Amino acid sequence: MPVPVSQAYTVAKYVLTQKVKRNKRYPLVLMLEPLFRCNLACEGCGKIQFPEHVLKKRVSAEKALAAAEECGAPIVSIAGGEPLIHPEIQDIVEGLIKQGRYIYLCTNALLLERALKKFTPNKQLSFSVHMDGLKEEHDKSVCRDGTYEIALSAIKKAVDMGFRVTTNTTLFNTANPARVREFFDELMTVGVEGMMVSPGYAYEKAPEQDIFLERNITKTLFKKIFGDGKDEWRFNHSPNFLAFLRGDIDYDCTPWGNPTYNVFGWQKPCYLLADGYVRSFQELIDTTDWPRYGQKGTDPRCKNCMVHCGYEASAVDDAFSISGGLRLLKAAKTFNRPATFTAEELEAFDNQKPYMGAHACATQPEGEATKSGKDELMEQLAARGQSSPKSDQELAKRN
Ligand code: SF4
Ligand code: SF4
Repeated sequence: MPVPVSQAYTVAKYVLTQKVKRNKRYPLVLMLEPLFRCNLACEGCGKIQFPEHVLKKRVSAEKALAAAEECGAPIVSIAGGEPLIHPEIQDIVEGLIKQGRYIYLCTNALLLERALKKFTPNKQLSFSVHMDGLKEEHDKSVCRDGTYEIALSAIKKAVDMGFRVTTNTTLFNTANPARVREFFDELMTVGVEGMMVSPGYAYEKAPEQDIFLERNITKTLFKKIFGDGKDEWRFNHSPNFLAFLRGDIDYDCTPWGNPTYNVFGWQKPCYLLADGYVRSFQELIDTTDWPRYGQKGTDPRCKNCMVHCGYEASAVDDAFSISGGLRLLKAAKTFNRPATFTAEELEAFDNQKPYMGAHACATQPEGEATKSGKDELMEQLAARGQSSPKSDQELAKRN
């Protein structure tokens, strides 16, 4: 099992409690973004194009802990931005541990080796290192040479010191299945506890728009990667989510499963879309137009989405029904089976637009890594509280 027994038990107990209470929309993982500032400017990132006055903002430790308490999710993913830049990151981590939550501290690992002395190994804390492939792919994806070696070295150091270390990988349509498989092998050899993989999401504001996956190509890509997979590979996902990625199971999105709290407040409806902000988690649940989103919804931005923050919670919820439990057993048993493809699938995969040459990585002045270009949408959102019942600016001031 790629997570400690205590974590699996905590999550199982929590989900069963929600089922007994007949709570249809419950949070599983709080996506906590205590800042948007980052020391990288990755080509597919939709978080770093905010204007400077927003990048300067931080969610205080007090507000972060209050948000976690209010939401009640057993797992907290601390994302961003780069959380290790946050001046109160230790207080946030320690406070969440005291609350009994399991934490995935997402980091690009540039600062991880130095930061390790600030933390103590704990079964409730895992560093989730951003790794987008082998050296060539990763350095290209994060727009900086040498980043792969730094991250790999930090992973080894953290593992040696007794920390839990996982990885999170975003795969774009440039992914070479054979190279991804090699990459998985490498991560296993350095002691990574479990790998998270997710298809990229087509952020309107991300600098490079040709690299994102369409749903049918996503399934073909993951079939190619997982087919004849190795027993040694450990994933930090439910078997049903992996089966979903390779097209064996169909799920709709449960965006409330991974609610997002950041410098603006609670974000509607999910980690990826920002259709307004509200002050409380309950207000998020009560006032979001949930049927609009996901595969059955009408919002075109959801059409090609298969990301883990929308669908992992659907897979976990499903596993707690009799039919879903049977699907889970089947998914776990058949994950490694050889993949078969239709001619249409292969044609679509082979004919997708190749991603050639230099990508759209921004050039940044030293020390201002996240200034990767002016984005009018983000400027407007930050300035006038777009489609929110409260002003985003007003909410941001409170944080
Ligand atoms: S590491 Fe890359 S993807 Fe993550 S927040 Fe920084 S710029 Fe965005
Ligand atoms: S389908 Fe994707 S973009 Fe749409 S609500 Fe779900 S997670 Fe968000």
